[in-house]
Amino acid sequence: MSGCGCDGHDLHPVDQVIEHLLSRAPAPPKIEQVALAAALGRVLACDVPAPSDVPAWDNSAMDGYALRAADLPIEGGYLPLAGRIAAGDSGQARLLAGHAVRIFTGAPLPPGADSVVAQEDCRAEGTGVWLPAVKPGAHVRKQGEELCSGALLLTAGQRLRPQEIGLLASIGMAQVPVYRRLRVGLLSSGDELREPGQTLAPGQIYNANRFSLGAVLRSLGMEVHDYEVMADDLSASRDALSLAASEWDMLLTSGGVSVGEEDHLKQAIRELGQLHLWRLAIQPGKPLAFGEVGGKPWLGLPGNPAAALITALIVARPFLLRAQGRSAVMPQPLQLSAGFSWLTPRSRRQYLRARLVADGAGQLSVQLHPQQGSAMLSSACWSDGLAVIEIGQTLQVGEAVTYLSFAQLLH
Ligand code: AMP
Ligand code: MG
Repeated sequence: MSGCGCDGHDLHPVDQVIEHLLSRAPAPPKIEQVALAAALGRVLACDVPAPSDVPAWDNSAMDGYALRAADLPIEGGYLPLAGRIAAGDSGQARLLAGHAVRIFTGAPLPPGADSVVAQEDCRAEGTGVWLPAVKPGAHVRKQGEELCSGALLLTAGQRLRPQEIGLLASIGMAQVPVYRRLRVGLLSSGDELREPGQTLAPGQIYNANRFSLGAVLRSLGMEVHDYEVMADDLSASRDALSLAASEWDMLLTSGGVSVGEEDHLKQAIRELGQLHLWRLAIQPGKPLAFGEVGGKPWLGLPGNPAAALITALIVARPFLLRAQGRSAVMPQPLQLSAGFSWLTPRSRRQYLRARLVADGAGQLSVQLHPQQGSAMLSSACWSDGLAVIEIGQTLQVGEAVTYLSFAQLLH
């Protein structure tokens, strides 16, 4: 990347870095067929056109009576009944002129009928029924009114939600072409790290990032391959990174990318492959690095747990989604009223742990957690999103502030 901060002191703007990452995103994984019931959250790999009109034939939207509207006078009237059609019946028989037919929701409209009256508006009497006047087309679901045969239903690159799964079922698809899940090698670095369940010696801490970053990847629908913690040692880091790169589609690490003597990952990457960029104008998360090992992309997130989480959601996510085959990868920012002021301009873009609070009238405002330290995960738990403050920006209470919800960032 031009003006690379690898050796200099300039910080890369976040948007440029995301663009740069997207330009280097690998092609999506291979296509595989999965059973529809197992396709939730997967990324569709082919466009899906409607194989026929939806609905495929005119049918009743109500339980009631089907008729020809012109057979009734303006004040309504009595028509003799000429049969009964339930959902699942073939509905081939023609409606006799001057008659009505008992019909149920989803049943095919018989040829000759053009409208349906709901049963609660009618009165059955003897072998016929009293009906109010009706307009042609009333309570009829017309063939093709939702979709015409050949219309594009879903496009490649969409993540399948319950509604897409239902739509695919409604056109009879039992198997769905999706991209194989992206396989991400997840590594943490730091001699101080122990796993939950182990006993801590003085100076040690638990490995939070293995779990939070693994959870982010799984939330995004990816496969996670965990490794032992990398020791703070150049050759150990090199060995671990080259092994992981030989096994998976890409590597995500946390820690070891800052400026300390114990931060070896950038050097390991330089020796094994290429370091494309380092250091972003972002807070938290400045030390983020990006490179490649053996042709596999590597994203080096900072070690501080909140910084690792936030950079995973803001910087890594679009790249990971694109590599997974998703077409829409950027979150949709909202502009909402700030419930706080921001009076000191900063030289890095701020991603602040925040949540939405509704006042008595249901008006939302963005509130900040008072603790924004890059190691602090508890404030991320209090939050349901991030407020974004641009470089140099100041803000008064009530002004619009950009807000990104975790719900969106974890999807
Ligand atoms: P580093 O970037 O390796 O200098 O780490 C920055 C800070 O984050 C240090 O306080 C580390 O102890 C902490 N840290 C690094 N990795 C993890 C992790 N996996 N879980 C929790 N804290 C971590
Ligand atoms: Mg470290």
